[in-house]
Parts: sequence; structure tokens; C-alpha cells
Amino acid sequence: MGKEAVTLGADVFAFFTRNPRGGRAKALDPADIEAFLTFQQEHGIGTLVAHAPYTMNACAAKENLRIFARETMADDLKRLDQLPGNLYNFHLGSHVKQGVETGIELIAQQLNEVLRPEQKTTVLLETMAGKGTEVGRGFEELRAIIDRVGHAERLGICLDTYHVWDADYDIRGHLDEVLTDFDRVIGLSRLCAIRLFVSCRSSSRRPMMPPAMPAKSP
Ligand SMILES: [Zn+2]
Repeated sequence: MGKEAVTLGADVFAFFTRNPRGGRAKALDPADIEAFLTFQQEHGIGTLVAHAPYTMNACAAKENLRIFARETMADDLKRLDQLPGNLYNFHLGSHVKQGVETGIELIAQQLNEVLRPEQKTTVLLETMAGKGTEVGRGFEELRAIIDRVGHAERLGICLDTYHVWDADYDIRGHLDEVLTDFDRVIGLSRLCAIRLFVSCRSSSRRPMMPPAMPAKSP
């Protein structure tokens, strides 16, 4: 994947930690990790964004689904720590009619169980569109999760422009105001990655999807 990024002229890239629809991750080969770290240095590749599978739902009503989410995240973070200093982005999940408050509590609970002080990966809460019972539509919901997490220094935000647009933040007409609000509620220092969607038509509500672009480390 690093080679492909370099071929495209990129110096960062995002990838899925495993099949985005879930499932087991391939065993890591230490030789592969070594080879990538050397390649990364040689080609000046910066911070990577690893994306968690979409099937993870930290605030599911069913306990087995929450256990799956917790174990998947813990496993992903353990693996990512072999490539220190990168970012791990996840969708907060859907509270499935338990209420936003319960959803926020359950997500924070999972993060408190999984995050370790010695961890070398920053976990990103992704801004969500709020479809159905999705948590993370408003910046306040993200802030409420951060406030409940013990090792909040290991947390950042991935701003998905498509999701915030869908959540009714007018990033096309009032980007400065949206960012000011982000700064007021969450703090710009937590903005670690931007997933940028570009539309060919000025009024399109269904933009095209370029790859994610990490902005900066916290
Ligand atoms: Zn995402």
C-alpha cells in the first residue's frame, strides 16, 4: 500500500485494519513491518490513518456486539502499536433506540476499557451524519465522549466533510463558523485528520470520494 501511495505522489494514506465488513485480521509478519518502516523513512511517508471496520458498534444494545466492538478495537490497537505514532479512526456506532446519552456512555465505557496510557496510537472519533440512531452528529456529542474518557490525551477527531455536511453543518457556505464552533466545543488541537469529499457540481449533495487526508498529529 505504501508503494501505491508513493506511485500516486502521496506521502500519507489511509487503510482498513481488516475487512471493513468485519472478520479476522491477517496475522502480522514482523518482516513486513520492518520492511514498511524502512520504506516509510526512505520515502518520507507521514502519519497513517487506519480505519476500523464499519461493523463495530460500541453502543449496540446487544452485549455480544459490544464485546465484538471492544475486542476488535483492542486487537487493532495492539497491532497498530507496532507502527507507532499513527491514527486509528472509528465510527461511533448507533445507539439503536437506547438514547444518545446511553450511546455516549457505552462508547466512553469501551474507550476506557481499551485505551492504555502506554499506547502509541491516537484513536479518532469520526464526525457522523446522524443517520438513524448514529451517535456523533453534533460536536457536543463528541465532546461528551471525550469528557468521559480517562486517557483523553489518546483521543482526537477525524472530521468527515461528507458526514458533517449531512449533519447540517454548512461547510460550503460557512466553513469558518463551523471550524470556530468545532474549536469552541472540542478544540482544534484535537483535529487530527480530515476526510475530504470533493464535489464536481457546486450544489451536489452526493460528492465523489477521494481518499482520506491526515491533517496533523495532535
Ligand atoms: Zn469513516
